[in-house]
Amino acid sequence: MYRNHTCGELRIAHLNQEVLLSGWVQSSRNLGGMTFIDLRDRYGITQIVFNMEDDEQLCMSARKLGREYVIQINGIVKERSSKNANRPTGDIEIQAQKLTILNASQVPPFTIEDESDGGDELRMKYRYLDIRRNPVKEKILFRHNVALETRKYLSSLDFTEIETPYLIKSTPEGARDFVVPSRMNQGQFYALPQSPQTFKQILMVAGMDRYFQIVRCFRDEDLRADRQPEFTQIDCEMAFVEREDILNTFEGLMKHLFQSILHVNLPDFQRMSYDDALKDYGIDKPDLRFDMKIKHLTEDLKAHGFPVFDSAELVCGIICKGIADSYSNKDINEITDWVKRPQIDAKGLVYIKYNLDGSIKSSVGKFYSDEFLQNLGKKLEVEPGDMLLILAGGYDKTVKQAGELRLEMGRRMKLIKEGEFKAFWVVDFPLLEWDEDSQRFFAMHHPFTSPLPQDLHKLNSTDRDVLKSIRAAAYDMVINGAEVGGGSIRIHDRALQSQNFKLLGFSEEEAEAQFGFLLGAFEYGAPPHGGIAFGLDRVCAIMQGSTSIRDYIAFPKNNQGRDTMIDGPSPLDQKQLDELGIALRSNEAK
Ligand code: ASP
Repeated sequence: MYRNHTCGELRIAHLNQEVLLSGWVQSSRNLGGMTFIDLRDRYGITQIVFNMEDDEQLCMSARKLGREYVIQINGIVKERSSKNANRPTGDIEIQAQKLTILNASQVPPFTIEDESDGGDELRMKYRYLDIRRNPVKEKILFRHNVALETRKYLSSLDFTEIETPYLIKSTPEGARDFVVPSRMNQGQFYALPQSPQTFKQILMVAGMDRYFQIVRCFRDEDLRADRQPEFTQIDCEMAFVEREDILNTFEGLMKHLFQSILHVNLPDFQRMSYDDALKDYGIDKPDLRFDMKIKHLTEDLKAHGFPVFDSAELVCGIICKGIADSYSNKDINEITDWVKRPQIDAKGLVYIKYNLDGSIKSSVGKFYSDEFLQNLGKKLEVEPGDMLLILAGGYDKTVKQAGELRLEMGRRMKLIKEGEFKAFWVVDFPLLEWDEDSQRFFAMHHPFTSPLPQDLHKLNSTDRDVLKSIRAAAYDMVINGAEVGGGSIRIHDRALQSQNFKLLGFSEEEAEAQFGFLLGAFEYGAPPHGGIAFGLDRVCAIMQGSTSIRDYIAFPKNNQGRDTMIDGPSPLDQKQLDELGIALRSNEAK
């Protein structure tokens, strides 16, 4: 037997019991005739004490232990004279009677403490040591709870967890596929799924009615800060449902997760159209933890002789409450430089300060009289002390810049309260997105998404603007400015699906070759259906107010898509390549 208690378990109630603990040496201290060891396992830390007077030899061997040695201790639970209120086991210590070294350890390359001295790269390479640290371990346990509560909630509603294959077929839509060469079918390749989309739809045709799967998805994209090439979705599909049924079911899931894990009651989710989100917040996933809607000012400010506004398609701005008097010229210059950075790319920034004493200060005072600006302020319900920041230019670009500026000012003005959650739905996304480079439409969500019934008639149009205005039965769940999930009602009619493929530039042969299995299934009684998928890693991060999904993945990849612990990806040896029938173009490729 290695242990009969864990290192997080013992309390005053266990006083004088003989116990057996196993774990890692967190630290050791020698104080005169005593040696103290902090023994750690997944459950906590317990102090072990060795007394020179009681057993000199035992105490001497304790002094030889290094950090991260794996040891076993027999001893008696004693009350501590100086208690540690910060530790659940802080009232007791174990008077050691026997010490067994189960395994020695090298000196770890960084400290196994809540605040480690190890940099990112080092901690990734030694991820097994990193996971011994509380902050990392706790996130992995948190994720387990989110997955568990998800399974409980969905199972209680008759959803069935069904596994779909990882070795599937490559399709050119969406992101780039990771591919796997087939040895038995040389020259042919499997693709790893970007999502189980077509399989879950086929499960609806198969009558499974309510499906879910906590499933790995693979996308070979250039890694942005918060992306991983493999990530986990809570993937769901339901038959015989309308959009409302899906929104209610999965609003319920999110409320359940927040309630059962964080004890937070999320209020009913607001619904916002995609068009309104863009108009009011300049983004399709607004952070609603603070207000500051974008004000559209084109009509008000155009044609008053200020050339920048006169030539602009859109003039819009945000009202920053209560900072007019305290916002210095230096602050204004800083935020102006911020909007001019290439990432935002605004030409400039105009301010109007409505000072507390009723006076007005503005960078465009030359073009607009004080009286005019006072009236504008009244119309916008500006109060003394408020400052208006204004951008101008082409519509799409400017409204997006205003959205970025809104978020940045929200951050700078500290308008976001920690621990607050604002969850809602964005609905009525456009069905199609025009791509200038390839001069064709792409599906904004994916090619299986149904148009809204009231826009179906527009599908036959040849007018690009009419096609752009078709709305989809698609929705995203947004929490605190992050898209945590998205889905749609699907097309379940073969003819409509073919028509949609055609709009997306597929010839009939191409559609047949790539999605013939789905079109075929639609000929055998496909029920109306729809679904959604959530990013599990992201849901965890948002729930804990973290910005990094990587922390919630036990073995994540770095920004170059590498796992530095196992040092992958790696070259194959010639024998493996030969078996697969793969000839590398040059040795450099290795
Ligand atoms: N398969 C979709 C995705 O991965 C989600 C869905 O439509 O259910 O985004």
